Amino acid sequence: MQIDIHNVTKDFGSQTALRNIDLKIGSGELVALLGPSGSGKTTLLRLIAGLEFPNSGQIFFDADDASNLSVGKRNVGFVFQNYALFKHMRVIDNIAFGLRARPADRRPSEQEILSRARDLLSLVKLSGYEDRFPAQLSGGQQQRVALARALAIEPSVLLLDEPFGALDAKVRHELRKWLRELHDETGHTTVFVTHDQEEALDLADRVVVVQDGRIAQEGAPNDVYEEPASPFVYEFIGDVNKLAVSVKDGQVLLPGRPIAIGDTDKPDGNYVLYVRPHNIRVAAKEEGQALTGLVRDIRATGPAVVMDVSLDSWNTHLDIALSHNDDDWRKLKPGTRVEISLRKYALFPE
Ligand code: ATP
Repeated sequence: MQIDIHNVTKDFGSQTALRNIDLKIGSGELVALLGPSGSGKTTLLRLIAGLEFPNSGQIFFDADDASNLSVGKRNVGFVFQNYALFKHMRVIDNIAFGLRARPADRRPSEQEILSRARDLLSLVKLSGYEDRFPAQLSGGQQQRVALARALAIEPSVLLLDEPFGALDAKVRHELRKWLRELHDETGHTTVFVTHDQEEALDLADRVVVVQDGRIAQEGAPNDVYEEPASPFVYEFIGDVNKLAVSVKDGQVLLPGRPIAIGDTDKPDGNYVLYVRPHNIRVAAKEEGQALTGLVRDIRATGPAVVMDVSLDSWNTHLDIALSHNDDDWRKLKPGTRVEISLRKYALFPE
């Protein structure tokens, strides 16, 4: 099922939660809605679900205008943060619930319902847990049951609102991997809401960054990470260093010094330079380099080596991330003078 959101605006009283949203979600795609609290992610998900209706604009499911269809007519499955299983029902009955609730003419036989529920339990790797009650499961297991329950009605679209929000980091990680595999296996068009940039980048085919009721940027995770379209996206997704610079005659200059650190096609003026820690190169100092500094600290933790370098004659410092495999960092210690080059950066007006 393909979803086409066309120029949708949603107001709550005098507050506009979403403005002129245009978004196409391809059939079988796994899309993350990523943004800070209050940016409108959940509202967008609820509009797709049919739990809210737009003030203007349309939502198409394939070629059909679904804008005014109620939730029951949209064939969507959803899972919310607090998983909200029915506490008094066994796992198998939780999963069977949606099918049993169907009108008699569309309801499978009880035997078929149970067989489908068991298949889904196996899909979420919980075979043998049929007779447990939710309170007898871990948070991660409850969340998998909630997913099985959402899948039981064979939805055309799966909508997940902060599905792993309430779980600890390790379980979140495992479930993320597992959801990706499940998605690859079942191929449902899936939209999930998160405010966790790592989760969005890790899991999604495409990331849609929502800011103040608008789409700030959308694209493949790596493109959004490497080519942020605005200061907001730079800062919201990943770590970034910021430096005040000026541009004169196509050259990027350090403030107060006639030293160019790169070329640009931006007009003359003052800018803020944004650069990711892994896009900075360092080497022991040689003469004549534009950008030099002093290593303050080096921490080799996890897969990256993180370095703090203060810049010469500049009241600022840079966080730099190097690969463990990059041997050069081993020659550097706190107190070493280094030359710095920026591999990739963006300039935004001050
Ligand atoms: P969070 O990550 O905190 O859940 P969000 O990005 O999902 O935030 P929404 O819940 O979509 O944000 O809210 C967007 C804006 O719309 C907020 O300013 C919120 O206060 C407002 N809003 C959402 N639902 C309602 C409602 N039912 N009535 C009034 N205002 C609402």
